[in-house]
Amino acid sequence: MFEFDKSQKQIQKAVKAFAKGEFDKEQIQDFEKNREYPIQTWKKAAELGFIGIHFPEKFSGANLGIFENVIIAEELCRKDSSMGITITMAGYASECILRFGSDELKNKYLPKIAEGESLSGGAFIEPDSNSDLSRISTTAVKKGDSFVINGKKTFVLNGGSADFFIVLCQTDPNASIPTNGTSLILVDTETEGLSTADQGTKLGTNMMSMSDLQFDNVKVPLTNLIGEEGKGYDNVQKFFTESRILYAAQAIGTAQGAYERALDYIKGREQFSRPIAAFQSVRHKIADMCIKIESAKLLTYESAQRFDNGKLDPKFSALTKMAATNAAMEVTNEAVQLLGGYGYMTEYEIEHFYRDAKVLQIREGNFTVLKDIIANTTIGKLK
Ligand SMILES: Cc1cc2nc3c(=O)[nH]c(=O)nc-3n(C[C@H](O)[C@H](O)[C@H](O)COP(=O)(O)OP(=O)(O)OC[C@H]3O[C@@H](n4cnc5c(N)ncnc54)[C@H](O)[C@@H]3O)c2cc1C
Repeated sequence: MFEFDKSQKQIQKAVKAFAKGEFDKEQIQDFEKNREYPIQTWKKAAELGFIGIHFPEKFSGANLGIFENVIIAEELCRKDSSMGITITMAGYASECILRFGSDELKNKYLPKIAEGESLSGGAFIEPDSNSDLSRISTTAVKKGDSFVINGKKTFVLNGGSADFFIVLCQTDPNASIPTNGTSLILVDTETEGLSTADQGTKLGTNMMSMSDLQFDNVKVPLTNLIGEEGKGYDNVQKFFTESRILYAAQAIGTAQGAYERALDYIKGREQFSRPIAAFQSVRHKIADMCIKIESAKLLTYESAQRFDNGKLDPKFSALTKMAATNAAMEVTNEAVQLLGGYGYMTEYEIEHFYRDAKVLQIREGNFTVLKDIIANTTIGKLK
């Protein structure tokens, strides 16, 4: 059983108070409709220490763990899934710098993320390689003291607003194992030759932009290499093992938020001269939702604790993300159903929890990818 310690309870309380005070339903709907980044809310969240809490103090963090990050993501998404996911993703992929980067890169970029001065993006996938990151074609060739990057990335979140990107590049096309020829390289948005193209409106979380990135002879210093050369693919997989816990946290918050709204509704709504909460089939739906949320929560907390103790493996992270995002999809779906026609209406908010839950199932590992990780580590690969 997970019991939050005193400091974790304080963080939870502070995030709850922040979301209650700052998240305005109508403003959020406007941001979503206009596809506008919530700059003030993001900056306030950073000011209160809710971004980069897991960074060391010298990089403007609080020296805390992923567990605390999970608490923050959960509470933010519980109040509003669109805003919660947006704030949680403000420093996306900056963990690659934190875990593998040089001191120079950490000093230069991490404080800006934690202080709400910079947004970041992770540019991993390409139009022809989504689930299969072992076959990327964006190249980074050494010339003097620079890398020259050419290629195209797609589906880059925060693409239109990030100040820098962590880019997975091919640095040795002759490597005997293709993944050993890849490296992570940091590219500032303003670098000559880098252009972004907006990918349009999404099913949800439209406050965050999503873009194609085109690299045409983009020159960056060799010191922008993150981690060891040739370890790009491996380090991205390690990063996914960490970040999938954060998706699980967004999922449990999203599920919880929709569930609580549905619970309130069924107590007040009467049909056939009775509150609908009196019907057994409705009560059982609530029971099923509780089971899904509580099971997903336990897995998410367990994953976060294992990560903070240096004991998280890719399998556990994958199964946690899968269980939590499935729970979010099922619970938000049921919540819409419990509100009936009103559940379908924007005014009642639940519909956007449902739409936002979907992307959590897709990003950073569709079901096939996650199930492959779980099965391969359980059974082993067979020829
Ligand atoms: C809103 C949003 C934000 C995103 N943000 C980012 C980002 O910031 N950075 C980034 O790099 N990427 C980002 N992505 C990309 C995302 O991570 C990919 O979409 C994801 O990795 C899954 O790939 P795919 O399912 O889209 O594509 P595909 O790999 O083309 O898969 C298509 C379908 O085929 C199935 N499939 C694939 N391989 C197999 C197989 N071996 N066996 C059976 N079935 C298979 C998949 O499960 C899926 O159903 C984002 C995507 C979205 C929608």
